[in-house]
Amino acid sequence: MKKTLMRSEVLREGISAPVATPIMPSVVYASVSPDRLDDQYEGRAEGYTYAREGHPNADVLARRIDALEGMEGGILLGAGMAAVSAVLMGLCQSGDHVIGGNQLYGRSLRLMNEDLPRFGIETTLVDAGDAQAFAEAIQPNTKLALIEVVSNPTIRIADLDGIAEVCKAKGVLLVVDNTFTTPQALKPIEHGADIVLHSVTKLLAGHSDATLGWVCAKDPELNDKMRVFAVTAGFTPSPFDCWLAERGLATFPLRFAQAQATAQRLADHLATQPGVKRVIYPTRPDHPEAARAQSLLHGQGANMVSFEIEGGRAAANAMTQGASDIAFAPTLGDVGTTLSHPPSSSHRAMTAEDRAAMGISEGFFRVSVGLEDPDALIAAFDKGLEAARKV
Ligand SMILES: *Cc1c(COP(=O)(O)O)cnc(C)c1O
Repeated sequence: MKKTLMRSEVLREGISAPVATPIMPSVVYASVSPDRLDDQYEGRAEGYTYAREGHPNADVLARRIDALEGMEGGILLGAGMAAVSAVLMGLCQSGDHVIGGNQLYGRSLRLMNEDLPRFGIETTLVDAGDAQAFAEAIQPNTKLALIEVVSNPTIRIADLDGIAEVCKAKGVLLVVDNTFTTPQALKPIEHGADIVLHSVTKLLAGHSDATLGWVCAKDPELNDKMRVFAVTAGFTPSPFDCWLAERGLATFPLRFAQAQATAQRLADHLATQPGVKRVIYPTRPDHPEAARAQSLLHGQGANMVSFEIEGGRAAANAMTQGASDIAFAPTLGDVGTTLSHPPSSSHRAMTAEDRAAMGISEGFFRVSVGLEDPDALIAAFDKGLEAARKV
């Protein structure tokens, strides 16, 4: 008779190796002896203890993202914002000063404006297109600068190389949120970044079913500091989310290439349509920083397109209703195309004047291009534009 193995024996004997990564939801891991536990805690032996401190699904995914970014020792966290928080709160202390791009992701801006000052950390927001302004904002107590290379939703291109030079000269850590650009378009580490982070939730996982973040510093000591803070603060990622994201990541380069090709076509199409005031896409020759986009992104425009239509809010309402085949939802990086309207969502807290100064009118839309058939997608946009023109 075939011997029935106990669960622990199956795992120990490894009678057959799974090809797909198993999900390990266990919160606790049993050890064999106090000596062995000592070895684990002192880094002399591999092993897990408690899921908040680390688990196999997070490690497998972290190593895959490390490889994409050309870095080592990245940390997986429960959200992109946990990655931003691990940097800002894990590395800064009261009395420090931090510089941020003035068009960062909304919650990163909020952390800068509302939360860091509560902990005695001073912040200054600067246009990331202006390295000189960054240089002028640096103080003796400036610890780090956080930027995104492509701004949301205005698709402006940061002066990454200029800012990296300024930061290096003054000993300021440069942190790059690479969520929009992704390592397919740009590896910040090759441009002088000290720390790179991602909202894995977006393009890397790609299916809008897992909320995760990743952060990695070039300096292992900084990674240790962030890891310890993240464990203490409880920024733990869920094993199931890590598993889903690992599965999503397997197709990331293919999804990116496809979405990018469609985004380029959509941008060029929209620019020819009556009622469209302007289209912003990095590889278009009429982009305000076309030369910088070319030198940083090497022809990779990524999957985000912004455009502005005539006719104000009424036309914007007609646009989303006419383009009813496209999800009107404020996320990005999904396999499906999503259309968002920053004045009524991400940028609703700003005054109309402040929005206008950024070029965000009531007719401003941001598109995250997905994997639909390009002709069908363009037809869906045309239906929206036609409805908007009738207003
Ligand atoms: C979404 C996003 C974040 C935050 O990520 P979450 O996973 O939603 O916490 C940070 N930065 C950028 C650029 C983003 O788009």
